[in-house]
Amino acid sequence: MLNIFDDHYSAIRERLLLLARSLERTAEPAFEEKGTVEIWHRFLSEHQIPFRLALDGLAPVIDLGLFGRSEKSVVITVDLDAVGRVSGEGWLCEHTCGHFAQSVHALGLALLLHTYGGLKHVAVRIIGCPGEECRPVYDLDYPLPYIPGKQLLLKDGWFTGADAVLSTHLADHLSTGWVQLVDGADGMIGLRLHAPPFDPFDHRPISLKTHAGFLDEWQKEIRRITGRPQLKVRARPISTGIELWTAFPKELADIQAQAVNEILARLSASTAVEVQLISSYAPLQQSESLQGIAEQVLKKDRVITNIQRISELPGSTDLGDVSQAYPVLQLFVGGTIGVTHDRNFQVVDEQFALLWPIQWLMNMLERLVAN
Ligand SMILES: [Zn+2]
Repeated sequence: MLNIFDDHYSAIRERLLLLARSLERTAEPAFEEKGTVEIWHRFLSEHQIPFRLALDGLAPVIDLGLFGRSEKSVVITVDLDAVGRVSGEGWLCEHTCGHFAQSVHALGLALLLHTYGGLKHVAVRIIGCPGEECRPVYDLDYPLPYIPGKQLLLKDGWFTGADAVLSTHLADHLSTGWVQLVDGADGMIGLRLHAPPFDPFDHRPISLKTHAGFLDEWQKEIRRITGRPQLKVRARPISTGIELWTAFPKELADIQAQAVNEILARLSASTAVEVQLISSYAPLQQSESLQGIAEQVLKKDRVITNIQRISELPGSTDLGDVSQAYPVLQLFVGGTIGVTHDRNFQVVDEQFALLWPIQWLMNMLERLVAN
């Protein structure tokens, strides 16, 4: 069994840490990850690893083995984008979600599998995915509705044939040697509202002309369609109106898309409030069987000192859409301080946060074929 921390691989580890630094410096917003894709291109060319480009050059895809025609076909997803932060009149982009680390994990795995021979009976497809973050949250001029990268990749069939989808993500403020197994996260529907200017000749009731009235109608419609008393809605004021962010629990995953379309059509017909769909992310439901396999793998790993079980993460991810169609597991890795999406977020243990996950991915792939 190949061990990434073996002396034999010290040059590879150095190269991967350099890669991490150049990726972290190249923080780009959703659907503009050209510099990041260029870094992938350079790294893969340097090591003669073939790749293709999906989504008009935005999504690099590496196939190791015959995907869809091996005993097991596993997709590994990598988020390419950084997070925008409103600053003055505009916004700045920084890797405060640690997505650059995912590139290091997957490219490190690709390098090892390519150089030292692939795994028997398992085909691995690594997909660099643009646009995971909901860009309109910080970029109010971005065209709506916003379709995140993995929804586009799913539609184009890049996951077709996958037996499992694995991913990594840095965790919030978590010690070295610690990882988190998370059951899932809520889905999310974002709406942008603009109330009409006062019109004395519009005789519709006030409930159809104000933000508060719209929110009431929205909750009523959700109650009607889901039978649920109320969903969590967070309101966010913006310069031109207000945004409503509605959390969709995983029990309602199968009706989320239908509900949003149906409700919006009905409400748009009656209300005077102008409504735009910002985006809709499905709930993340991590595979129980992959969690079980991960637990076995992690318990045998001598670097791991603590496995935290967490029922729900805050926020949403477009991996949720993938998890509605394929068994998915994203592992959350420590070696960090600070809070995700905050400027204080930082990797403090490069060996653990950036390199150890390569070993985990490798061990998972081996165990998946053994199961
Ligand atoms: Zn993230």
